[in-house]
Amino acid sequence: MKYPSLDIYIDKIRENAVRLQKELSEQGVKLTAVVKGFAGDLKVFSAYQQAGIVSIADSRIENIKHFRAAGYPGEIIMLRIPMPSEIAELTSYIDGSLISESRTAELFSLQAEKLGKVIDLIIMVDLGDRREGVLAADLPALAYKIEKLPGVNLKGIGTNLGCFAGIIPDLENSQQLIRLKKDLERELGRDLAILSAGNTATIKVLTEAQLTGEINNLRVGEAILLGSDIINQRLLTGYNHYNFRLKAEIIELKEKPSRPEGEMAFGGQGRDQHLEDKGWRKRAILAVGKQDIDYQGLYPEAAGIEVLGASSDHLITDITEMEGQKELRVGDVLTFKMNYSAMLRAMTSAYISKNYL
Ligand SMILES: *Cc1c(COP(=O)(O)O)cnc(C)c1O
Repeated sequence: MKYPSLDIYIDKIRENAVRLQKELSEQGVKLTAVVKGFAGDLKVFSAYQQAGIVSIADSRIENIKHFRAAGYPGEIIMLRIPMPSEIAELTSYIDGSLISESRTAELFSLQAEKLGKVIDLIIMVDLGDRREGVLAADLPALAYKIEKLPGVNLKGIGTNLGCFAGIIPDLENSQQLIRLKKDLERELGRDLAILSAGNTATIKVLTEAQLTGEINNLRVGEAILLGSDIINQRLLTGYNHYNFRLKAEIIELKEKPSRPEGEMAFGGQGRDQHLEDKGWRKRAILAVGKQDIDYQGLYPEAAGIEVLGASSDHLITDITEMEGQKELRVGDVLTFKMNYSAMLRAMTSAYISKNYL
């Protein structure tokens, strides 16, 4: 076995996808499975194909090309607002895109016309998270602009919350989105096919507040891959949790004082680590680091292990409280559950070997 490694539970991901698709379709909501979290890995993607997923969204053209080359025939939505420089190439692989700039719409229009196809556009509205999207007041202008362009179809509007400022999708911002769509429909004199919400954090308000009659498309990644909802700090009941597990090897095992020695850089702040003086502690250093994982998103499987921090190639843990720590030896392996951010980095790291289960 080569470490660090990632155990990936394909069947459990498939089960989650089947379950979510069924639950949403019973409420009239179309699932767009967000697959940006695993770097285009075709073995992980097979879970979605086996689950009968027919609409996916990714943020990278490389991944999108991969899925097409593997014969995926379903809908592909460009998830991140595209770069103008990639639209010429992107247009032939996708069916639609999220959008927030008129310049981007113009470029799609030109390219789609050339290819004799129509690209669906969903205008993103910023409802407070302050990542992508037009402000509500600017929505009609962009909509009119797209309506006039050939080769593009204004399919609907959407929003994304929770990703930059960490704003929670709630009744208020969801109803605002619904209102904006209705106002825009009145303004344009026609119905829009899609009201697209996302992401995993939206599942809660959508089902609790019965908004599914209005919001008819949900873009979801985390719930399928990890069965978790980090924004609402919960695990989804009935779903398989933490379907990616990191295994890393212990390269140093020593008792050391937890208090550092010497003059600390940056005005005594050091590297911003939380360094509590707990006296002598048993510490394990593992051979995995910042270039492979987000250490703050690692959850040790065994109780009593604390992740203290990481550098590029080292993960520093305190194992003093771990049961059976006395039997641990250099070369032993510890296992970690991981959040989305750690999973994403592990999947894009060239140094992590993958073990598909
Ligand atoms: C990543 C992303 C999603 C999916 O988010 P999850 O929290 O993984 O469900 C949905 N919409 C947009 C625009 C995204 O960037």
